[in-house]
This record gives sequence, structure tokens and C-alpha cells, in this order.
Amino acid sequence: MSTTLTPVGTLHSPYREKFAIPRQPGLAQLPAVLELQPPFDRPEAVRGLDGFSHVWLIFGFHATAAAGWKPTVRPPRLGGNARLGVFATRSTFRPNPLGLSVVELAGIRCDGGVCLDLLGADLLDGTPVYDVKPYLPYADAIPAARAGFAPEPPARLAVAFAPAAAQVLAAHPEPRLREWLVAVLALDPRPAYRTGEDGDFGVRLFEFDVRAEIRGGQLTVRELRRAG
Ligand code: SAH
Repeated sequence: MSTTLTPVGTLHSPYREKFAIPRQPGLAQLPAVLELQPPFDRPEAVRGLDGFSHVWLIFGFHATAAAGWKPTVRPPRLGGNARLGVFATRSTFRPNPLGLSVVELAGIRCDGGVCLDLLGADLLDGTPVYDVKPYLPYADAIPAARAGFAPEPPARLAVAFAPAAAQVLAAHPEPRLREWLVAVLALDPRPAYRTGEDGDFGVRLFEFDVRAEIRGGQLTVRELRRAG
């Protein structure tokens, strides 16, 4: 059976480009909002969901879908060297460009529509979401499960802010902005084949062009410039 999927909503996230998005959910607890769209944006469609702390999102890898799929991929966790089968990885280049993420459900707002406040999503801003399902610990959590080539969470870099960047943080109305930027940048945005190399990079996060450098295991944010 082939089928047609219709988005139930759009995910709004601080990740304005693919670069620097965490490679799995839950690694950085940044806020995101799932805005349901008509005809699914009805309060009764989420009745009872507020009893759940976490939800599964099934979504579209819309930014890379046009590239199609590859039977083997090089997972970043293996340094981008070894090739594994697509079904042994969480690669975005899949036969059907569908992603699956478990995220924290921080709140539900139903004021003239339905918005789910989420934490820890690994989704690009603007991602179409095809389904939302409650996370069921008794069925979905398997503490003794084996995790092949990715048994542990990734290592983290130390993150510091140069004075100019620290000033922007200090003047910002959101007190958690620093904590959020540290959480994302510590995950090391460099492509796997560059890990270990020193260098500079820029990335859009929230409303900022973030300019940073990595020297050894230390990432320093040089500049936070409001993106035009
Ligand atoms: N947890 C999901 C996603 C894992 S891949 C799953 O296992 O299916 C995670 C990567 O997906 C991120 O690093 C990001 O670069 C990419 N990504 C997130 N949203 C995307 C989108 N809408 N289109 C293309 N790639 C996306």
C-alpha cells in the first residue's frame, strides 16, 4: 500500500538551518512549538494529551527529501568513515523521508488553535509533522536495550562566551538563552570528518548569527549578531 501523508502541523524551532541541530532528541532541552493546522487544530483532538510528559513526533525530513535515499550511510558517530545500512542508522536519507523523535511535552495551549510546547526536539524550523502520539513508558522504554554503534550519548565540548557575546546575553530578555546556546554548541556542530580539527564556524540559532571558534576541546562564541 502506498499512501499520502498530510501534515497535522508545523514545528517552530530555534534551529534555522540544518548545521548544529542535535543529532537526536533530548540532547539539548531547547524549546520548540508544534502548531497544529486546520482541520486538525481542534482542542478535542488533544483531549487527554496533557496527562503525558512526552510525545512521539513523526515528521518529514523536508529539507533533504529531494535527495532521495541511499542503501548505506556513514554515521557521524563512527567518524564518517564506516558505512552501515540505512536501516541500521537514523540517517535522514531514507526510502521514505520520515523522522521519529521523542520529546518532552511542556504544555498545551488552545487559544484559537492548538499549540504544543515542546522541549528537546531535534527538528529544523518549519518541519512538517505528520503525527503526534503519546509516549508510553511501559511499552516504549526498554532500559536493557542494546544500541549497536551508539551505546552512549555523544561527548560534549566546553563552551565559553567572549566579552562581546556575553554582553548580548546579559542584555537579552530571555534568561535561559545562555543555557540553551551552551546545550546546543557543546554537542559539537562540526561535521564528523572535521571533529578534532580546530576551526571557525557560523550558524543561525534563534534570531542570531552565531560566530564561534573551536580550539582543542573548547568552543568560544565570539559574536552574537542579530540576523537580518
Ligand atoms: N530523531 C530523528 C532525526 C534524527 S537525524 C530520527 O531519528 O528520525 C537528526 C538530524 O535530522 C538533525 O541533525 C538535522 O540535521 C536533521 N533534520 C531535522 N529536521 C530536518 C528536516 N526537516 N529536514 C531535513 N533534515 C532535518
